[in-house]
Amino acid sequence: MDELSTAGARAAALAAGHLAGVADGPVWRPVPDADRAWLSGQELPETGRPLEDLLEDAATRILPNPMGNGHPRFFGWVNSSPSPAGVLVEPLAAALNPSCAGGDHAGPLLERTVVRWLADLVGFPHPPGGGLLTSGASMATIVCLAAARQRAARADGWDAREDGLSGRPPMVAYVSAEGHSCLHKAAQLLGVGARHVRVVPVDARHRMDVAALRAMVAEDRAAGLRPFCVAASAGTVNSGAVDPLDAVADVAAEHGLWFHVDGAYGALGVLASGAAPRYAGMERADSLALDPHKWLGVPVGCGCALLRDPAAARAAFSLVPAYLVDDHADDLGWFSEYGPEQTRPFRALKTWATLSHLGRQGVTRLVEHTSGLARTLAAMVEQAPDFELLAPVETSITAFRHTPREDGLDALNRALPAALQRRGNAFLTGTRLGGRDALRACFLHPGTTEDDLTVLLDELRLAAKDL
Ligand SMILES: *Cc1c(COP(=O)(O)O)cnc(C)c1O
Repeated sequence: MDELSTAGARAAALAAGHLAGVADGPVWRPVPDADRAWLSGQELPETGRPLEDLLEDAATRILPNPMGNGHPRFFGWVNSSPSPAGVLVEPLAAALNPSCAGGDHAGPLLERTVVRWLADLVGFPHPPGGGLLTSGASMATIVCLAAARQRAARADGWDAREDGLSGRPPMVAYVSAEGHSCLHKAAQLLGVGARHVRVVPVDARHRMDVAALRAMVAEDRAAGLRPFCVAASAGTVNSGAVDPLDAVADVAAEHGLWFHVDGAYGALGVLASGAAPRYAGMERADSLALDPHKWLGVPVGCGCALLRDPAAARAAFSLVPAYLVDDHADDLGWFSEYGPEQTRPFRALKTWATLSHLGRQGVTRLVEHTSGLARTLAAMVEQAPDFELLAPVETSITAFRHTPREDGLDALNRALPAALQRRGNAFLTGTRLGGRDALRACFLHPGTTEDDLTVLLDELRLAAKDL
């Protein structure tokens, strides 16, 4: 234990020192060859090594090779810097090391609070047991769509778990062209088949075209198929667009579809001042996926599935063998009855710590600050003759492109992110939007300033000179 105390103090200092120094180093750099060889090619030691030695390796080989998302000028994908409170309590979760499948201990009890807090924050109705933490939104989506599938089967008088899907009219799911890949993966995994995932076109603001959705559902029903679920986005990865959720909810209600909302990244955007009307209808969803490890900065991984009717998820997953029967469980039973995971980590602790440290006001400030940065960058882009805005800002993502010349803009903007990243002073990633190669900057870091936006545009100009 002495060894752990001594090394533990050093580990805490290393973690704090790393976070304190992050902004002074490059945002990212390619892993040096020697480190790459060490990281990926080590032999398993025959005899164990002292804890202190492991920290030496961490200090020299591991911490110097980050992904970059701790830096205030990291704007890639949707990856946040870790919340200090989350970093603080991670070792405590490991020290307790419970399985939060269920039972009477801190983990599952605290998870009840955390899920309720998340629902409260975004204004989603919260019946007792109405949600669970997952590895991320990909897993949350599997939970939600499995619940949707089983509900549809039961409504039609059969059982998807018992019978399987063969011999039934194909179930059909609806996702916008800007919907996340995890929606497709979940539908494929659940046996819906990629062919029965309809891609609904988007409008000029990259939001689901609800008239097209309505027509597609009607056509599929007329063809004898079984539309069962529509998945809308509250914050797409490409541009941060929020689908017209109220109108999608109307279609879902008209046709008896499960209404899922992918708010993995953007659900918290509802807290920004003036944003609530854009999110109207989110509270009507049957299920909402929301990632604490995105905007909140809870250390990876932590997603959350919120459910209007928890019994729907339980009906899709509950399977309690004799060795797991708990005669003392309450009516809600175990978390492991609501999803595919049995042994479940103590994700609630880092999420509880992050939310407790920020408070509702702190979360709102973070969302306001980062959304404001996205709008400011959009304004700078619109004023610059050599940049073009590609989408209105709806959350904390700015989609744009560099236009220093007339021709070859797709090739230029496709090559720009990697060239920018290699310079080490700022980091963003690219995409395709409306048929064009685009740049997108996603703001999640509480320490990003408006000066960093100027650096970003200047760095893009410099990187483009060599392309
Ligand atoms: C990140 C993300 C997902 C996938 O969630 P994971 O946590 O990566 O599994 C889905 N949808 C959106 C909008 C996301 O940003």
